[in-house]
Amino acid sequence: MDKHKIMNPNNWLPKNRDPYLIAGPCSVESENQMMTTAKQISEQNIASVLRGGVWKPRTKPGSFEGIGVPALKWLKDAGNEFQLPVITEVANAFQVEKCLEAGMDMLWIGARTTVNPFYVQEIADALKGVDIPVFVKNPIHPEVGLWVGALERLERAGISKLAAIHRGFFAYKSQPFRNEPKWEISFELKRLAPEIPIICDPSHIAGKRELVQEICQSALDLSLDGFMIETHCNPEKALSDANQQVNPNQLKSIIDNLEYRNAFVEDRQLFAQLEDLRGQIDILDEKLLTILKDRISIVEDIGHVKELNQVQIFQMRRWFKILENRQGSAEKLGLNKEVVHELFQLIHKYSIDVQIKSQQELKQKVK
Ligand code: PEP
Ligand code: MN
Repeated sequence: MDKHKIMNPNNWLPKNRDPYLIAGPCSVESENQMMTTAKQISEQNIASVLRGGVWKPRTKPGSFEGIGVPALKWLKDAGNEFQLPVITEVANAFQVEKCLEAGMDMLWIGARTTVNPFYVQEIADALKGVDIPVFVKNPIHPEVGLWVGALERLERAGISKLAAIHRGFFAYKSQPFRNEPKWEISFELKRLAPEIPIICDPSHIAGKRELVQEICQSALDLSLDGFMIETHCNPEKALSDANQQVNPNQLKSIIDNLEYRNAFVEDRQLFAQLEDLRGQIDILDEKLLTILKDRISIVEDIGHVKELNQVQIFQMRRWFKILENRQGSAEKLGLNKEVVHELFQLIHKYSIDVQIKSQQELKQKVK
């Protein structure tokens, strides 16, 4: 099958290797671990960039927090030895300064840093006058504004080679993955900043090496522009993220097993068939919206009745009953219960907002 076509014509990521792949350990642990991992990755001849974390933002204190400055040299030496550009994570101005001194070729901003505009601005200021490629991971929680904002701060500092990394989002109950993919957030980023390439970090989405392959396939099917995959010469013994790292042989097999599907439909018969199905979906969506409109009109009436009778808008028991009932119906219809739950949460929030608004309007009229 054809290799996928790149959707973003301004994509600055080099195309000498397809897919674009950043590989290397979660953390640089020792000179030997870095050199051995780099050697084995380079033997597979598939990676474009070598990664290694030097300062590790860990959720719990007492975990391995990275070697710090001395590890920069080990990473750079490994890159020089195997002719691979190197990338590491920065979270403040001091780290930027040390990385530039050590000759890092690229930098990334981690998920725990993207959430904080103060840190991002500090990094952007430290980079003024240095046009080095910077990759920005999505913030921990699904707020696309913070992601775009971080990219904008860097752009204003003069960084011309920017890319985003989709590494999934924290969710209270994210199963089976460590972080929920929520692909729609990266589509939104694509819509807001179409010139920014987005690569996928399946390792931090998956949390388990066994799931890395399927996430890579999804990312490829969704036309993302490359991958950052945590790769370690001895993953089981890794000092951080041991469960999700793969070894260089596994990395090669993941890349070899990717199936490339056409991003654009060229076959006219297939195109016609898809158009027909899309037409059916358009009609159903119109019906859905009309039903939603009817529902909202009734919600407005309920709002008036509640106002006239001094009844609170939010009725907890009624809401729990709706949820239970709709999930039960969803199950009978073979629909995903969690998705239906989320859908009704949204519809319910909309309804409450409408009631608040219609009550305010009623009060204005009475005045
Ligand atoms: C990492 O890439 O090792 C890392 C810490 O990632 P994130 O910021 O996505 O948690
Ligand atoms: Mn990691």
